[in-house]
Amino acid sequence: MKQHISKSVNRTILLNPGPATTSAAVKAALVADDICPREHSFGDLMLRLCDGLLAIGDGAETHEAALFAASGTGAMEAVLTSAIAKDDRVLILTNGAYGFRMRDICNTFGISHETLGRYGEFPDLEKVEEVLQSGQFSHLAFIHHETSTGMLNQLEDITAIAHRSGVAVIVDMMSSFGAYPFSLSQTQADFVISSSNKCIHGMAGLSYVLFHKKHLPALEKNSRGYYFDVFKQWKNLHAQHQLRFTPPVQICYAFDEAITETLKETVAERWKRYTGNWQILYDGLKQLGFRFLLPDAQQSRILLAVDLSSLPGFSFDDFHDALQHDGITVYPGVIPETRTFRVAVIGDLYPDDMHRVVASIEAYVHKRTFS
Ligand SMILES: *Cc1c(COP(=O)(O)O)cnc(C)c1O
Repeated sequence: MKQHISKSVNRTILLNPGPATTSAAVKAALVADDICPREHSFGDLMLRLCDGLLAIGDGAETHEAALFAASGTGAMEAVLTSAIAKDDRVLILTNGAYGFRMRDICNTFGISHETLGRYGEFPDLEKVEEVLQSGQFSHLAFIHHETSTGMLNQLEDITAIAHRSGVAVIVDMMSSFGAYPFSLSQTQADFVISSSNKCIHGMAGLSYVLFHKKHLPALEKNSRGYYFDVFKQWKNLHAQHQLRFTPPVQICYAFDEAITETLKETVAERWKRYTGNWQILYDGLKQLGFRFLLPDAQQSRILLAVDLSSLPGFSFDDFHDALQHDGITVYPGVIPETRTFRVAVIGDLYPDDMHRVVASIEAYVHKRTFS
């Protein structure tokens, strides 16, 4: 029996760093046959998601994937509680809100750790190497793209430093995986985490841990979690052809479409599109007199944090509402003691969208005075 479902939705330009603007095909994929996720065909779909993620990360030969029904923080908790054994110790690079979230998770679970870095401070690689060379640490955990500031930490360099010191790396690529050109097999990254709704442009609800195959025995031994057990989650899907617990069925269908689109566009082309979009925002905002939080060399080209400290009369809420009226969502800042707002280019967005954003901001600026 057929049911026909059709409706129109507005396409909004989301400049918040995920959940992102999705394509029409990803939205349409949400409407699918009702299915019991224990069916074999659904197991095939879940395994295809894992293969697709490993293909995006260029890790099909070297790495494995574990999927969780959770937002990205679930994957953070999963990797920290699964990879780090009771007598291990992790060094966490903390230069933004998400690095501090890793610290908070370690505190919650009593995971032995130390932190290095300050909010908004670019990692000092010599210092990182010196600390790791002390031999006190089994793991180094850091954020690749610090979404709170738009800072791009030096993924390849930091990973190489850790490996030189015999330390395994845990990298949060939540807001860069799928767009930033990166190879799991070449970097030999030990654990990488991300979610469905950022640079892969799927719906929110799934997150994942991509890990080097050599860590399977340790993962089996070391997990301290119940739901967020990376080994059990991986093993169950491969041995039983289903996830341990109920997956978000429709979100999986949409994610399958989003992964297909990512592979079709290629990560290299997506990166070009992002950086092109980012440059339009950067140039447009600069022209309008805005200043940016970070120096150019530290910018991710995925997100731009705009520094409002010289504009005391600027009301983010008023600005947000004016742009929302034009179908554009801008995002507040989170940096302690600094007034910023953020715009990200994550999503199915194109240069025309960016020009529309700049025009909308220009119209706003010309109507208001901020000093
Ligand atoms: C989005 C994000 C997360 C996870 O946030 P959720 O709200 O749990 O999805 C973690 N780390 C970084 C760097 C992020 O950008």
